[in-house]
Amino acid sequence: MTAFTYKNGELHAEDVALSAIAADVGTPVYVYSVAAMTEAYQRFVEALAGQRAQVCYAMKANSNLAVLRTFADLGAGADVVSDGELARALAAGIPAKRIVYSGVGKTREEMAAGIEAGILQFNVESRPELTALSDIAVSKNATVEIAIRINPDVDAATHNKISTGRKEDKFGIDIARAGEAFAQASTLPGLNPVSIAVHIGSQLTDIAPFRSAFGHVAELTRQLRADGVAISRLDLGGGLGIAYAGERVPTPAEYAAMVAETVGDLDCDLIFEPGRYLTGHAGVLLTRIIFIKDTGERRFVIVDAAMNDLMRPALYGANHSIEQVREPAPNAALGEADIVGPVCETGDTFATAHALTDLPAGELVVIRDTGAYGAVMSSGYNSRPLVPEVLVNGGDYALVRPRETLEQQLDRERFAGWQSPERTSQS
Ligand SMILES: *Cc1c(COP(=O)(O)O)cnc(C)c1O
Repeated sequence: MTAFTYKNGELHAEDVALSAIAADVGTPVYVYSVAAMTEAYQRFVEALAGQRAQVCYAMKANSNLAVLRTFADLGAGADVVSDGELARALAAGIPAKRIVYSGVGKTREEMAAGIEAGILQFNVESRPELTALSDIAVSKNATVEIAIRINPDVDAATHNKISTGRKEDKFGIDIARAGEAFAQASTLPGLNPVSIAVHIGSQLTDIAPFRSAFGHVAELTRQLRADGVAISRLDLGGGLGIAYAGERVPTPAEYAAMVAETVGDLDCDLIFEPGRYLTGHAGVLLTRIIFIKDTGERRFVIVDAAMNDLMRPALYGANHSIEQVREPAPNAALGEADIVGPVCETGDTFATAHALTDLPAGELVVIRDTGAYGAVMSSGYNSRPLVPEVLVNGGDYALVRPRETLEQQLDRERFAGWQSPERTSQS
């Protein structure tokens, strides 16, 4: 991936100097590369070229409208998990027939909206959801295609908080009881069970858990077909990991070979729901150093981004590489520093004992590989404005989410009826 490289002594996003974006938009700001997203998408799709595959981008990884439009233009569908995501996917121009609906807790309103939009399929995760979806489909005179998401009891060997395919996890229907669920679905009006779905977790760095899960799916497909359930589509989820700190991860080609091996002979349409793989490397969080605080014990580099802008280090102990925007001299001495944000929590730490040259306050640094599960998880904690997003395309860039203003923050809230409506008190 060459989207973020040094040119003329400065880190660029494609052909745009990050210092120019910082001067224009301010910091902190997320910067995404169209070229990097396109390259990741094409690598994934080309690896699967021998199969009837449709990518339904797991938009929870990065749901900015301009990012979605980039993938829509490449032919991607979307995997949505809420009313908000469905509305965004449609607004970005993703055709309803390329949208699948995931999630353990879809509300009746959300199911109704999905049916009205005419999406491709619902991935049903429980028996109560089956009956609820049947009721709603009947009330709308519709028949909806569904997958039953099975829980294959496979340990994805990833971070505990993003592992979803073990028996004790809340996701899917126990594969041992999938037969009963499909039998019930076949008798319920308004439902057409055509598909099996599986997603065992995120940031998988080993191919073996996928192989095991897809093997179980293949076995279930044969068994269901023998029982008269016409399975014609498999949704194999997402989860392909990316290298955050030089770790070895499976390539799309290795992943595709394993897919062919496990389910290739079943004559099924295949859906894939990559999220992180498509956007993770394609984004950086650009931030400026506010102060250097040397305690004698430790050197703290205090930056203007914080845990509310990028939660992954605080939430998952994630390790992101951090680089300076001004290119370091080839033999510059490296020191260790803790890179921290201004929020009043010790968890607001992006990196501990990170090797960095001796940078003064005012310098720009980037937190790399933050295009997935970055801006989408941001909040306004500490009354910090929601972080802006910039999309770069060659020598062009666009502000695709402006920084929230303090006025917008205040406008979202109301005083209670018994309080004075005046915003500023006269004292
Ligand atoms: C989160 C999620 C994905 C995407 O996972 P990545 O690791 O980002 O590829 C795909 N499908 C489902 C059902 C998910 O919950």
